[in-house]
Amino acid sequence: MTNVTSPNWQVKDEQFVWHSMKPYNPNATMIVQSSKGAWITDIEGKRYLDAMAGLWCVNVGYGREDIAKVAYEQLLENTYTPLSVGHIPAIKLSEKISELLEDDYVVFFSNSGSEANEAAFKIARQYHQQKGHANRTKIISRYRAYHGSSMGALAATGQAQRKYKYEPLAPSFLHVTPPDTYRANEDHIKSKDPCALPSVQAIDHLMTWEMSDSIAAIIMEPIITGGGVLMPHDHYLQGVKTICEKHGALLIVDEVICGFGRTGKAFGFQNYGIQPDIVTMAKGLTSAYMPLSATAVRREIYEAFAGSEEYDFFRHVNTFGGSPAACAVALKNIEIMEREDLFAQSASLGATLLATLQEQLKEHPYVGDIRGKGLLIGVELVQDKDSKTPLDVTLVNKVIAQCKELGLIIGKNGVTVAGFNNVLTLSPPLIISSDEKDFIIEKFVQALQSIK
Ligand code: PLP
Repeated sequence: MTNVTSPNWQVKDEQFVWHSMKPYNPNATMIVQSSKGAWITDIEGKRYLDAMAGLWCVNVGYGREDIAKVAYEQLLENTYTPLSVGHIPAIKLSEKISELLEDDYVVFFSNSGSEANEAAFKIARQYHQQKGHANRTKIISRYRAYHGSSMGALAATGQAQRKYKYEPLAPSFLHVTPPDTYRANEDHIKSKDPCALPSVQAIDHLMTWEMSDSIAAIIMEPIITGGGVLMPHDHYLQGVKTICEKHGALLIVDEVICGFGRTGKAFGFQNYGIQPDIVTMAKGLTSAYMPLSATAVRREIYEAFAGSEEYDFFRHVNTFGGSPAACAVALKNIEIMEREDLFAQSASLGATLLATLQEQLKEHPYVGDIRGKGLLIGVELVQDKDSKTPLDVTLVNKVIAQCKELGLIIGKNGVTVAGFNNVLTLSPPLIISSDEKDFIIEKFVQALQSIK
C-alpha cells in the first residue's frame, strides 16, 4: 500500500513524470488519489467535480464496480487473444457497435483515437486502390480540428501550433475552413440546399481543384471539440455527404469525443441525419476504464478487402487492440449507458445547462458565445462582443484556476489565432445529477465573475 500522505509525491512527480501539455495546462500540478462518480480527490484530500470527465472520456463516471468486476473476470477467463484470431467479447462488441451505428458495419479494433484514425486513413487509401483508383490518396480535413498525436493523425489535425515542431508530416493531407456558427454564421443562406452553404462549397471547390479522382476521403468530427466546440450549420453534414458522393470520396466521421452520448445521441452524426462510410471511436467506448478504439467501416468497404491477390487484405496489426478485457469492459459500459438512458440524459441535462449558462452569463462583458449539444459545451471568451477578438489567455487561465479553487475542473480549447485558446469547455460525465449540474453552473458563473 502506498503512503499517500508522503510529502514527496509532488517532488517525485516533477522529477520523473513527463506530463502531457505541461506547463500549458494550468491543472497540471494536481496529483489525483481517487475518483468516484463525477468527482476526483487529490492527495491533499480536496475534492473536485470533474466537468471534463478526464479528457472528455469518463462518460459513465468514475469507480464503477460492475465494470471493474467484468475486467477482472475476463482477465482471468481469457487474458489475451490477438485479433488475428477470434474471441467472444470482440464478436459481441462489434455486433453491438454496428447496432448502435444503425447500419451494417464491420469493426477493426485498436487502442487509441489516433490509431483508429490511422487505420481509417489506410483503409480509405487501400479501398480505392482495390477498386482500381490508386490515384485517390489525398485526405481532407478541417482547420482547427484535432485528430490525434501520431504522425498521420497529426497531419490530419488542422492546428498549426500542434504540428510545426514535428514537421514534415505525412503528405497529401489538405485542410479547409471549418463551419463556425459564431464567427461565420450561415443562417442567412436562403437556399435550403445544404450544398449551398459556403462551408460545404469550400469542400466542393477543394475537391474539384485538387481533381476529384485524387481524393481518398474527408475526415471530420460532427462538432469540432478540441478546436473550441465549433457548431456546424444544421445541414452542414448532409451537404458534406452529398459532396463526397459527387466526388467519389469516403466520409470518415471521427466520433472519438462526440460518440457514446456526449452530444445526446449514441453518435454525434446521428444529430444530423447522415450515415458515414467510416466511423472512428475511442474514449467513451470504454469510458476510459481500458484503452480501446474502433474503426467501423461499411460492409461494402470491408468487402473490397476480400480479393484473392497477395496484398488484398488489410496489412495492419496491433498487439493490444480489441483485447478480451477491453472489449468486455466496453460491452458493460454500453450496457450501463443503455440501462441508465444516459444518451437521453446527456441531451436533456445538456440543454438545461446550456440554456442556464446562456441566461446567467448574457450580460458578462467577456462572454462572446455559449454553444454546444448534449453535455458538450463551449464558452468563448472575447475582449469585446463586437470585434470578437479572443480574450487574453492570462484571463482565460485565471477563470480555470478560479474554478479549480472552487472545486470544479473545466477545460480550455480553441484556436482562433495561433496561441489563443479562448474557449472554456465543459464535458462532464453523463451521469451527473441535477444537483451536480447546479454545482457546475454556480461555480463556473462565480469564477467568471472574478475577471469582470
Ligand atoms: N480524435 C479526436 C476528435 C480527439 O479529440 C482525440 C483526442 O483527444 C483523438 C482523435 C486522439 O485520441 P487519442 O488521444 O486516444 O489518441
